[in-house]
Amino acid sequence: MIDRRKFIGRITAAGALSLVPRIVKSETIFSSATVDTNSLPVIISTWNHGLDANEEAIRVLNDGNSIVDAVEQGVWIPEADPKNMSVGLGGFPDREGIVTLDASIMGPDGNAGSVCFLENIVHPISVARLVMDKTPHVMLSGSGALQFALENGFKKENLLTPEAKKAWKKALLKHDYEPHPNWENEPNKFHDTIGLLGVDKNGNIAGACTTSGMGFKIRGRVGDSPIIGAGLFVDNEIGAATATGMGELVIKTVGSFLVVELMRNGRSPQEAVEEAVMRIVNKVPEHQKYQIGYIAVNKNGETGAYCLKPGFNYALYKNGTNSLIDSKSYYK
Ligand code: ASP
Repeated sequence: MIDRRKFIGRITAAGALSLVPRIVKSETIFSSATVDTNSLPVIISTWNHGLDANEEAIRVLNDGNSIVDAVEQGVWIPEADPKNMSVGLGGFPDREGIVTLDASIMGPDGNAGSVCFLENIVHPISVARLVMDKTPHVMLSGSGALQFALENGFKKENLLTPEAKKAWKKALLKHDYEPHPNWENEPNKFHDTIGLLGVDKNGNIAGACTTSGMGFKIRGRVGDSPIIGAGLFVDNEIGAATATGMGELVIKTVGSFLVVELMRNGRSPQEAVEEAVMRIVNKVPEHQKYQIGYIAVNKNGETGAYCLKPGFNYALYKNGTNSLIDSKSYYK
């Protein structure tokens, strides 16, 4: 039932921006906030795989689809890429050699869906979307999530590529199961999630987050990415946030919810992500061993990004330009 169309879209025209700020009411019935739409739409996502995901999200939006469609289909790109060893097909397996996926999605209506510990499905984000759209629940896990996916027309596929299998076999020889910061920048990447946030031209907000989690993790381990409020949070009146890095630190501080609440209390997206990283610095003694990156966007399309240690980057589509930007970090 999921349309596996080819991901061939590219951004079309950037769209001429009016010099006069366009102030409109948000279209959804869930928010009455006034929005400065002058720099909308905006798409922001984690790491360099975000560049292609942003382009696809914008293409989907420009085709007249919803912001939820845009964030979902944007992250299809890394999910379906076998060369991407941290998301979907081709992701590193757990220490038993089995690829298990976590994903979550949230829309402007406050609805949310997620899956965790899901095997054999290339697009966990679309299973999460179906949980959100078609069930009264938020999260399905493991074999139940797989059963739900298969019953709804998803195809069972082998996600373990020869490259990921080779890396797993090598890791088995020496891996200490102790995660290291910025693995994602090493040639043999161990983890990095795509979290993608979007605001459409009317100020409606959605987010998607999908990952194979930490490479060679203990079987059954679930990270922050499928946990609403930890790896992803959207409030259509305020903004959205998503996280990457050592998920346990994000879960312990309910990171994405914290960022959005800080924005609700008047912080800019940048101030909010910096404070959420500070929360980890102050509350999680073992944080120095790890990397964490947050990105955030508010209803007007202002963005923020911050991380614990140098090395985190993010892709930002704004005012018709898609660029990769190095995040500022707490430690230098
Ligand atoms: N946050 C993900 C997890 O802990 C991994 C990552 O973003 O690198 O599963």
